[in-house]
Amino acid sequence: MTEMRTLKVALLGCGNVGAQVARILLEDADALAARAGARLQLSGIAVRNVNGHRDVELPQELFTTDAGTLVKDADLVIELMGGIEPARTLILSALQNGACVVTGNKALLAQDGPTLYEEADKAGVQLSYEAAVAGAIPILRPIRDSLSGDRITRVLGIVNGTTNFILDQMDSTGAQFADALAEAQRLGYAEADPTADVEGHDAAAKAAILASLSFHTRFALENVHCEGISAVTASDIAAAKDAGFVIKLLAIAEKLTGADGKEGVSVRVHPTLLPREHPLAAVRGAFNAVFIEAENAGELMFYGQGAGGTPTASAVMGDLVSAARRLVLGGPQRTETTTGHVPALPIEAATTSYYIGLDVADQPGVLARIAQLFAEHGVSIEIMRQTIHRDAESNVESAELRIVTHRASEAALAATVEAVKGLDVINSVTSVLRVEGV
Ligand code: NAP
Repeated sequence: MTEMRTLKVALLGCGNVGAQVARILLEDADALAARAGARLQLSGIAVRNVNGHRDVELPQELFTTDAGTLVKDADLVIELMGGIEPARTLILSALQNGACVVTGNKALLAQDGPTLYEEADKAGVQLSYEAAVAGAIPILRPIRDSLSGDRITRVLGIVNGTTNFILDQMDSTGAQFADALAEAQRLGYAEADPTADVEGHDAAAKAAILASLSFHTRFALENVHCEGISAVTASDIAAAKDAGFVIKLLAIAEKLTGADGKEGVSVRVHPTLLPREHPLAAVRGAFNAVFIEAENAGELMFYGQGAGGTPTASAVMGDLVSAARRLVLGGPQRTETTTGHVPALPIEAATTSYYIGLDVADQPGVLARIAQLFAEHGVSIEIMRQTIHRDAESNVESAELRIVTHRASEAALAATVEAVKGLDVINSVTSVLRVEGV
């Protein structure tokens, strides 16, 4: 019997995710060898402080601060340090040395992915990053492999657990954004500086990756229109709830025909109203889910834990075993396809439905005037609902008007809202939110 080959695995980083990856590599060595067709030998773990506290008990002799030397001698490199440098230099050096690389570093991929993909192509090795989008959920491989014989038309993702937790908290308790954020921080779902999550930057990095794989074209972070959730108020949530919707921060990538008649891809992140019966509306707390529409497969949904050391380590290990198997079997490594050549559309060209809340004077003929303005701007109304309020002190009546439109372009909607603001019967525009799934 021929002896099983041994592959050296260098682990860069031993924090939340890295420590769990090291544990699995050591605890499940025999099962992993059987699946990979080679023994995966953890050759070392690079960290900043070799004496730092670890969540898992690991042999002290594995730790080093010399990541550069560790990488030089490895067949497989797992980068779980995070940040741009030295992660970028170490990954490039690993690829140039012919090692396959597994990473969960969405910030680096969003900022400089093309440089890394090209280096992997040049070296003929695999660069895998399943953990970079939606933690434990297998989503990149299904898009890249399982759906490679289909045409994806739209991807809607809840890909940031922190913002989903905050919006869910606001929806279920009526809390304001600041209070829900404080609760997320108290429970460890949000960082002390929550900017990257609440302003949508983390979701935008993931949207760029999802769009690139789904439409076989490399989209960068600057192609992603990004709006966070810090401006979402308790009254937006209450109005949405009252109208049968839930507000979610969605990462969206969809193929659209722009105003010039040419096809393009709109990649965007923004708070979005979803009907309560939409499958993504049922995604509660810090969970993630990605909803895909494809020409032949129809609708698919992938759901699970979007973060956390152990769940994310599962995605890293899947990539590692797959890369090891390919090293053992030989042949060309799998690379991303970039044959789509579809341009990114600016946000003005995106079309979607809208929810518009208006505070209006309760006078005869108001509804007709508003409906006419919408029609003049080419925005057709799907639902219009009016609720009358009487001020107890002044006894003056006003009306709250809730409108849901059919799909319209951002540009047409913006012009409509500006025109509506100019009507003398409008007290205020209380909310303008995009709607999906109607
Ligand atoms: P983390 O807990 O902050 O751990 C980072 C590790 O990298 C630490 O062990 C640290 O060493 C080491 N490190 C950082 N800079 C280094 C440097 N310059 N040289 C050597 N070692 C260095 O990070 P994490 O939460 O595990 O996340 C790791 C990666 O996975 C990130 O790219 C993150 O975006 C991605 N990810 C994380 C999650 C999650 O749930 N945590 C989910 C999906 C993706 P010391 O221990 O000595 O400080």
